[in-house]
Amino acid sequence: MQGAHHISQSPGAGNIAAVIGFSLDDEHEALRRTVMDFAREVVAPVIGGYYARGEFPYEIIAKVGKLGLFGLPFPEQYSGMGGDCFALCLALHELARVDSSVAITLEAGVALGAMPIFRFGSPEQRARWLPRLCEGERLAAFGLTEPGGGSDIVGGMRTNASLDGDEWVIDGSKAFITNAGTSITSVITVLAITGRADDRLEISSIMVPAGTPGLTVGPGYSKVGWCASDTRELSLSGCRVPAENLLGQRGRGYAQFLQTLDEGRVAIAALSAGLAQGCVDECLRYVGERSAFGHYLGHYQSIQFKIADMEARAYGARLAWYDAAARLVAGRPFKKEAAIAKLTAANAAMENARDATQIFGGYGFMNEFPVARFYRDAKVLEIGEGTSEVQRMIIARQLGLASEA
Ligand SMILES: Cc1cc2nc3c(=O)[nH]c(=O)nc-3n(C[C@H](O)[C@H](O)[C@H](O)COP(=O)(O)OP(=O)(O)OC[C@H]3O[C@@H](n4cnc5c(N)ncnc54)[C@H](O)[C@@H]3O)c2cc1C
Repeated sequence: MQGAHHISQSPGAGNIAAVIGFSLDDEHEALRRTVMDFAREVVAPVIGGYYARGEFPYEIIAKVGKLGLFGLPFPEQYSGMGGDCFALCLALHELARVDSSVAITLEAGVALGAMPIFRFGSPEQRARWLPRLCEGERLAAFGLTEPGGGSDIVGGMRTNASLDGDEWVIDGSKAFITNAGTSITSVITVLAITGRADDRLEISSIMVPAGTPGLTVGPGYSKVGWCASDTRELSLSGCRVPAENLLGQRGRGYAQFLQTLDEGRVAIAALSAGLAQGCVDECLRYVGERSAFGHYLGHYQSIQFKIADMEARAYGARLAWYDAAARLVAGRPFKKEAAIAKLTAANAAMENARDATQIFGGYGFMNEFPVARFYRDAKVLEIGEGTSEVQRMIIARQLGLASEA
C-alpha cells in the first residue's frame, strides 16, 4: 500500500476548488481512492474478529499510521502530510464505509487528541508531542466529559486543578474518553476548573502524560457499538504534572473546547455519512445475490425504493459535511453548518443502518455481517461530540432563537 498522497497546504483556496461543483480535485480524489482501497483490502477482512473480541486493532492502526492518515491535517515539520481538515474528513468517510471503530480511533486521535495541541500548544509542546502522533505511533485523547455531565459540561464539571509550586495537582474524573487506555496512548488533555471569580468558573486545558502517578485508567466499557475502539473512564487523584503542561492560556479551556468540538463535529459528520454510504454499498451487493419468491431482492420495487432513499440520505449527508469542511478550511464561519452536518449525517446513518439490516433479513441481525456492525455503530453518532439535541440547540441559537430560561 502506498502512502497517502501529498495534499497541498495552500490555506483555503485549493480546498474550495476541491469542492466547487461538489466534485473532488485530483489530489483529494487520489486520497479518497487510496483510503477506500485500504479500507476494503486491509480493514474489511479482519475487523469483524477484533469487533467480536472487543479488541483494539493495533495492527490496523499501525498501518493507518504508515499511510499517513494521522498526520493528514498537520504541517510536514511535525511529520504531518501538509493537508487539511477536508482531507481528514475524506479519509474518515472512506474508512467508515467499511468500519467505524478504526474511523473513530483516527477521528479522536486527530481531531480531539492532536489538533488542540497543534492549535493551542507552545512550540515546545508541539515539537514534543506531535511528530509521533502524526506518525500514528502514539495516540492522544481529549478528556472533556465527566460522569456528571457531557452536554452541560460546565454545570457538570467537578475536576479541579490547582497550582502547587511548579506543578498542577488535578483531582476529578472523566467519562467515556476515546483512545485513553491503549498501550500507545501518550497524552490525555483534560479540562479542569483552575479558579473561580464572581461565580464564574475558570476552566483550563492541561496535558496529562499517560502513566502519570495519580491517573487511573478504568477498564474498557462494554459498549453497544464501536467495539474495537478504546473508551475509558479516568480518575485523577492528586495527579501532578509540570506547570508547563498547561495547554494555551490559563482560563481559555472553555473557548478551546468549543472550537475543538465545532471542528470535531464536521469530522464526525463525515464518519456518519461514510457509515450511511457503507449501508448502500452492502445492500447493492446483497440484493443481487439473495432471492425470494423467484427473483433477486433487487427486482422488487419496495427494495429499490428503500435503497434509493438510503442513497439520497447518504448523498445529502455527504454534501452537508463537504460544505461545513470547505467553510472550515477557508476560514469562514461554519458553526451552524457543522451542527447541521452532524445532525443530518447522524440521522442518515441511523436510518440507513435500520433499512440495511431490514434488507438483509435474519442475516442482518447476525454480528458476522457488516450491516449488523453498522446498526450497532450508528446509535452513538446521535450522542458523541454533542447529542442531536445539542446540535438542534446550536442551530436554533445560530438562527437567533433565544434559549429557554
Ligand atoms: C463511545 C463514546 C465515546 C466518547 N468519547 C469521548 C471523548 O473522547 N472525549 C469526551 O470528552 N467525551 C466523549 N464522549 C462523551 C460524549 O461526548 C457525551 O456522551 C455526550 O456529549 C453526551 O453527554 P452525556 O452522556 O453526559 O449525556 P447528557 O448530557 O446527560 O444528556 C442526556 C440526554 O439529555 C439530553 N439533553 C441534555 N441537555 C438538554 C437540553 N438542554 N435540552 C434538551 N435535551 C437535553 C441529551 O441530548 C441526551 O439525550 C464519548 C461518548 C461515547 C458514548
